[in-house]
Amino acid sequence: MTILALHCIDKKYSEAEQYAVKDVSFEVNQGEILSLVGESGSGKTTLLRLIAGLEHPDAGHIKLGGQIIVEGKKSVPANKRNVGMVFQDYALFPHLSILDNVKFGLKGKENNPEKKAKETLHLVGLIENYQKYPHQLSGGQQQRVALARAIAPSPSILLMDEPFSNLDAMLKDQVREEVRQIIKTTGVTAIFVTHDTRDALSTSDRIAILHKGYLQQIDTPKALYEKPSNGYVANFFGRRNEVLATPTNDGFYSNFGFIPDERSKNFSGKVKLLFRPEQAQAKKNPLQPMSGRLVKRVYFGDHQLLHICDDEGKFIYVRANPYKEFTEQERVFFTVKKFGVEEAF
Ligand code: ADP
Ligand code: MG
Repeated sequence: MTILALHCIDKKYSEAEQYAVKDVSFEVNQGEILSLVGESGSGKTTLLRLIAGLEHPDAGHIKLGGQIIVEGKKSVPANKRNVGMVFQDYALFPHLSILDNVKFGLKGKENNPEKKAKETLHLVGLIENYQKYPHQLSGGQQQRVALARAIAPSPSILLMDEPFSNLDAMLKDQVREEVRQIIKTTGVTAIFVTHDTRDALSTSDRIAILHKGYLQQIDTPKALYEKPSNGYVANFFGRRNEVLATPTNDGFYSNFGFIPDERSKNFSGKVKLLFRPEQAQAKKNPLQPMSGRLVKRVYFGDHQLLHICDDEGKFIYVRANPYKEFTEQERVFFTVKKFGVEEAF
């Protein structure tokens, strides 16, 4: 069931030349975690603010829980929208205890705010800390207080703007999983904004990707990674190689060598072979059909990334086992296990 629907939303700030958000439409289902990704300035925060009622769009309409909340000049005020929000810096009240921070959001909405606040703190695993103040908690714990404050009033939708960006890498993996668990336990629908593809891929049911205010694709993490709708999306989620090739009767011929493949029959002009570094496999064995010169190798511990160059100086990325020795400038052979084919022009 759809809980939130945005239809053809445009937003341009008064002094700005470009639209912050342009012609954006998407729907979010009940209980779903959707992440909104894109580079800095792509319009992520603006979209959240439009949903929360902190900004008004120039065009389009928004429906939340079956009710139109924005259309034309009309708009339901932010405090009447039943939207929960977690900000990047958590925005906890430093002079209020953890319990009072959570009770704050329940004012006028709950007969017994104390009971509800304690239940929610229990849910986020912080009930023992309810008398403490924000500064006495770790970053990850403060994050959970902010989450408790936002979900205690049972919002129709929870909006989180870069919720993990203030946490260091080790903590982040743990907090990310905890937050996902809490959201799934409560069944609340959530949209979270991030510029970190790892966060998005590992936490969301679906991901929406924005570029310069335009929605590029909205899909499951797997579909976005494996079937990106354009080159921008493909390269946002890791690198994707593009190798120019000529189809023959039984395969594709490129500067790196020949790949036998049935699909070549479907093409007449030049094509692009598309594959990610992990879809190729580097070998030392000269029987492999593809090869190039190793110009650089970068070590990452769990893998190494080889930069392999053709005769014209164009290079591709190939992922290799970290224990294999390769020498720069030597010839490296590789196979491409799986690849996409597109017309080149
Ligand atoms: P993101 O959250 O993806 O980094 P934003 O939604 O904050 O992107 O910004 C989208 C675009 O709108 C950017 O070009 C930004 O400079 C512009 N912008 C954001 N807020 C304002 C504002 N209050 N006034 C004018 N321009 C703004
Ligand atoms: Mg932002």
